Amino acid sequence: KQIDALFRENSELAKSITEQIHKLAPIVSKEIGREKIKIMNFCGSHEWVTTHYGLRALMPETVELIPGPGCPVCVTPSSDIENVIKLAMEGYTVYTFGMFQVTTVKHYKKDEVGSLAAARALGADVRIVYSFVDAIEDAKKSGKPSVFFGIGFETTTPSYAVLFEKEKVPKNLLFYSSLKLTAPAAEFAVRLHKSKGLVPVSGVIGPGHVSSIIGAISWDFFPREYKIPAVVTGFEPIDVLAGVLKILQDLHSGDITYTNLEYKRVVKYQGNVYAQVEINKVFKLVDAIWRGIGSIPKSGLDLREEYSMYNAREQLGIKEKPWDYDLPPGCRCNEVTLGIAYPTDCPMFMKACTPARPWGPCMVSMEGACAVWARFGSTE
Ligand code: SF4
Repeated sequence: KQIDALFRENSELAKSITEQIHKLAPIVSKEIGREKIKIMNFCGSHEWVTTHYGLRALMPETVELIPGPGCPVCVTPSSDIENVIKLAMEGYTVYTFGMFQVTTVKHYKKDEVGSLAAARALGADVRIVYSFVDAIEDAKKSGKPSVFFGIGFETTTPSYAVLFEKEKVPKNLLFYSSLKLTAPAAEFAVRLHKSKGLVPVSGVIGPGHVSSIIGAISWDFFPREYKIPAVVTGFEPIDVLAGVLKILQDLHSGDITYTNLEYKRVVKYQGNVYAQVEINKVFKLVDAIWRGIGSIPKSGLDLREEYSMYNAREQLGIKEKPWDYDLPPGCRCNEVTLGIAYPTDCPMFMKACTPARPWGPCMVSMEGACAVWARFGSTE
């Protein structure tokens, strides 16, 4: 209740921060010589807060809040979904959360089973679970050859790692890793804006819950290497407004920093060291494919050799194919996740693609920008 009162329902504070943003933004815009001060959020939940609470409508003309690649469902490559569908059709029990409705690049083709939902409709044993623990319990009971579709960022990964480390995973449950890391993708997006000649990103709002694991310090490369302020914030509207103001203040003063502004209630500078150790014991860094984007070096995790008996790819001989463009025709999800386009720029938004019948991956999860905009409007 105290948090609600402070960070959600405190309209006086929201008004005061917004006024300061309006005062500072035109000055900063002149100082940095950019008509638009582009601020990227990484996390799908920040996009949710920004859109749900109409924060874009509170921004001055000069400040643009853009979404980033922080939705694991949106960025899981089609090849991974196709591999897991194939295993389901071959008789494995497949456990998933989040990926049930996501379609592959081939789903519109005749004779292709284009999603795990379609596989289940055809008789495959696809089970939706809330967590890896649920899958473990169920696989123990069934004793059937099973595969868990492991998606997520650093927030989810410790919950997998600790169960492997504590030997809680039964031998009949394999793990198909599609785990991703946040910082390399955020860096990729920022570099892309620069290299494509777009208005460069001037500030980054770092993901709050990911930072509770990896630490606010993980974002120090933005000020150090790119001279871009990075602010870790929470998930209430005033958290985000305060983050925007801090970025403007940094740009104005020239003291470009990474800050754990006011989310100290959750995030420590060093993060959760216990969780980091557990992750490193069980998982190793790998190059990973991001849907519609391609391979980003060292941006994913897979099981270490010690746990290879659980590694679905290794145990079932699944070979990684080179990335091929993997969004359904017309879908601009890659541009949306990289902050180059808004969902409403896609001609299929709320026409051929809706939350009830998603065509592309950004319309599936509540962290996908298209799904968020579909439910709460663009707030422009
Ligand atoms: Fe893709 Fe649908 Fe979003 Fe368009 S509206 S970019 S088709 S997910």
